[in-house]
Amino acid sequence: MKKEKTFGKKSIVVCEIIAVILAVLLLVYIFTATILSRQGSTRGNYESLNSGWSFIRSTGRTTEVSLPIVERARDREVLTIENVLPNVISPGEYVSLRAVDQEIRIFINDKLRASYASDPGYLIWDRPISKYLYVPLTSEDSGAKIRIEGVNNSKGNRTFTEVYTGELSAIKTKYMGDQLVGIILATSFFALGIVTIIAGYTMRVMIKAEMHLESMGWAMLIMSLWDLTQSDFRDFIFSNQNLIYAVPVMALMLIPMHLSIYMNWIQERRYQKAHTIFVGACIVNTFFWVLLSASRIISPEHAVETSFVFLYGELVLALLTAYQDKKKYGKITYSEILVGYVIVSFCGIFQICNFYIPGAKSDGMFLAGGFATLTFAAFINALKKMVLMQGERQAAIQTTELKSQFLATMSHEIRTPINAIMGMNEAIIRESSEENIVAYANDVENAGKLLLYLVNDILDFSKLESGKMNLVYAAYSVKKLISKSYNLIIGKVREKGLEIDIDVDENTPSVLYGDEVRIQQILINILNNAVKYTENGSINLKVGFEPGEKETINLKMTVKDTGRGIKEEHLGKLFDAFMRVEDAGVGRVEGTGLGLAITAKFVELMEGTIDVKSEYGKGSEFTVVIPQKIISENPLGKFTLVGADGQEEHKTLSDVKKYPGVKMLVVDDVQLNIKVVLSLLKKSEMEIDSALSGMECLEKCKNTKYDIILLDHMMPEKDGIQTLWDLRRDKGNINIDTPVVMMTANAMNGAREEYMGLGFSDYVSKPFNLTQLQKIIEKNLKLESN
Ligand code: ADP
Repeated sequence: MKKEKTFGKKSIVVCEIIAVILAVLLLVYIFTATILSRQGSTRGNYESLNSGWSFIRSTGRTTEVSLPIVERARDREVLTIENVLPNVISPGEYVSLRAVDQEIRIFINDKLRASYASDPGYLIWDRPISKYLYVPLTSEDSGAKIRIEGVNNSKGNRTFTEVYTGELSAIKTKYMGDQLVGIILATSFFALGIVTIIAGYTMRVMIKAEMHLESMGWAMLIMSLWDLTQSDFRDFIFSNQNLIYAVPVMALMLIPMHLSIYMNWIQERRYQKAHTIFVGACIVNTFFWVLLSASRIISPEHAVETSFVFLYGELVLALLTAYQDKKKYGKITYSEILVGYVIVSFCGIFQICNFYIPGAKSDGMFLAGGFATLTFAAFINALKKMVLMQGERQAAIQTTELKSQFLATMSHEIRTPINAIMGMNEAIIRESSEENIVAYANDVENAGKLLLYLVNDILDFSKLESGKMNLVYAAYSVKKLISKSYNLIIGKVREKGLEIDIDVDENTPSVLYGDEVRIQQILINILNNAVKYTENGSINLKVGFEPGEKETINLKMTVKDTGRGIKEEHLGKLFDAFMRVEDAGVGRVEGTGLGLAITAKFVELMEGTIDVKSEYGKGSEFTVVIPQKIISENPLGKFTLVGADGQEEHKTLSDVKKYPGVKMLVVDDVQLNIKVVLSLLKKSEMEIDSALSGMECLEKCKNTKYDIILLDHMMPEKDGIQTLWDLRRDKGNINIDTPVVMMTANAMNGAREEYMGLGFSDYVSKPFNLTQLQKIIEKNLKLESN
C-alpha cells in the first residue's frame, strides 16, 4: 500500500522537474537562434579583407571576386587569389583564413609565409581537412601583395573562406561569434542528453518504471558529441585536433546501438532477437572500423557512409517491427517515437545533402535537431506510460483493497456464529451430566477451534497481502513462548502416538522484545505441520540463538520431523499461498495451503529467514531465524515447561465462579451473543441485564448502576465506540466510571491496544469462553480470584 502511494507522488515530482528543465532548454534554444545569431560580426580590432580579390585559374584567366568563393577545379589544379594587405599594419597583427579540404599556401610579397596541407591519401586523419590558419605580420607587410594558392589531389569544389587581418584575439573572437549559435545549440543538445540519461536512471531506480529513457539519452548525448566534434568550431573547444577528428565517426557508429536498445524496451522485448542481432552487428562494425583506423589502414571518415547505412538500418528495423505490432495487436503504443524516427530520417537526408553543399557549415545541426525531437517524443512516451501505469496500479490497489475488505468482513461475520456455537457448546459441556452428550459437544468444540483457526488464517493472509499487517512489539518470556506453543500441540502429538522432544539452549536470553503472538504463530505453524505430516516417529524442537548486532540476538527455532518429507521439486513452491502438495500415496491431510505462506510473510516482516531441508520419505527440517532485541540478558537456564501440560481441562459446573450481587450489562445487536454470555454465567449469581443497541444501553445506564458493561463494536446506528463516548460525555451519568469492556469479533493483531486507546477498559474477542469472561470480570472489578 505505502509503496503505491509513493509511486504516485514521486512520479509526478519527477515529471515536473523534467518538464521544467526541458522548458528551460527550449528557451535557451529559441533565445540563441534569434537574438545571438548576429553577435560578434562587427566587434573588435580586426578588418575583413573580403573584397578586391583577383581570382586566377591555372589557365591565367582572372576575375574580380569577393570572398568567400566556391569554385570547381580539376585534379591538382592550382587556384590562386590575390589582393593587397592594408596600408597600415602594426606589429603583432595577423592575417587569417580557414583552410578547407585543400593544401593552402600563403605568400606575402611572393615569399611563402605559411602553408597547410591535410594529410594525403589514406593517412589524412593526422591532419583535419579544415583548419583556421593564422599568419603573423610585421609593419613591413603594410600594403604588401598577398597571394593564396589552393591545390587538391582530386577534382571538385574548392573553397576560399573570408580573410581577416588584425589582432589575433579579435579575429578569434570574430570566428567564435560566427559559431556561437552552433556552440550554444550543441551544448544544449549535450545538456538534453545528460538530463534524459539522469531522468531515465532515476525512473528506473526510484519508481521502478521500465521506460529506459536513458538509452535515448545516450543516443542524444552522442549525437551532441558528434555535433561538437564535427563542427567548424571544434578548433576552439578541443586542443588535440588529431584525436577529435575521429570522434564524429565513432559517435555515428554508436548512435544506432542505443536507438535499437531503446526500441527493444519500448516494444517490451517482443523483437529482442532482431534488436540483439542488430546491436551485435553495430558493435562488430564499430570494432572493425576502429581497428582499421587505429592501424592507419583507413581514415576514420571512410566509415561515414557505412555508419549512415546502420543509422537508416535501425530506422527501417523500427518501422518493420512497428508494422508487425500493428498487424498483431491492431495498435502501436509508441507512435510518437515512430514520428520522431521519421523526423530523424528526414533530418539525416538534409544533413547528408548539406555535407555536399559547398561552403555550407558542417556542424551537424540538422541531425541533432532531429534527435532532439526524438528525445522529446521519448519523454512524451514515458509520461504517457507513467499515467497509464498509475491508472493500472490504482485499479490493482482497489481490487486488493476490495478483496481484503471482503475477507475481513467475512471473517468478522463468521466469527459471530462461531461465538454462538462455541459458547452454547461450552454451556452444554458444563451443564450436561450425560457422558455421550459431553463427548459430542467436545467434538463440536474441536471442530469449532479448527474453523476458528482457518478464519484467522484467512484474515491474517488478507492483511499481510494488502500490507496492512502491523507487528505489535512488547517484552516477552522465551520460556513462556515455547511452553504455550508446546501446550497447544501436545494434545495432537499424543493422539497420533508421536514422540516429542524439546532442546533449548540454556544460554538463550530469558526476556526478548518482539511480537510474541506472531512468533508463536510461526512456531505453531511449523510444529503443527510437523505433527500433521508425520505418521510415526518423533518431532524435535530446538531453540537457540546466534549473536546479532548490538543488543540483539538471532533467535533460531528448528523443527525436525520423521514424517513423509517433501519432494525436491516441491520445495521451491512451499511458501506460495494456497500451495498444497497432494501425494497420491499418502492420505489427504486437512489444510488450506496458507500456513507456510503466512509464516514466511511474518518472518519477512520481522526481517528474519526461513529455510527448509527435507528428504522425501524420511522427514523435514524447518529453521526460522528472527532478529530480536534483548530485554534481559539473564540466561533462560534449564528449560522446564510452564503452565498446563496440554491436559484437557475438564469443564464442569463446579468451576463456574460466583460473583454474587455483581451487576453486568451486555450490549450486542445479535441476541444469540447475549444468550452466550447469559448461559456461560448462568450459575455465577450475577445480575445480568442486556441491551440490543447503543441507544438502549445509554437509556439503561441512566437508571441502573452497573459494575461492568460488555459492549459490542459493530452495531447499527450507534456503534460501540460512539456509545462509550456518549456515556463518558454524560457528566451526571451514574455509570460514568463503570468499566466498559469491548466485546468484538474484530480479532486483528493490535486491536486490543487500539480499543484501549479509544477509552475501553478492556477487550475480549469473540469467540470467548467462560475462563476468559471470568478473567475479565475479576480484573475489571479488582476482585480476588475465588
Ligand atoms: P497446509 O498444511 O494447510 O496444506 P502449509 O502452507 O502449511 O499448508 O504447507 C504447504 C504444504 O507443504 C503442505 O500441503 C505440505 O504438503 C507441505 N509441508 C509443510 N510442512 C511439512 C512437513 N513438516 N512435512 C511434510 N510436508 C510438509
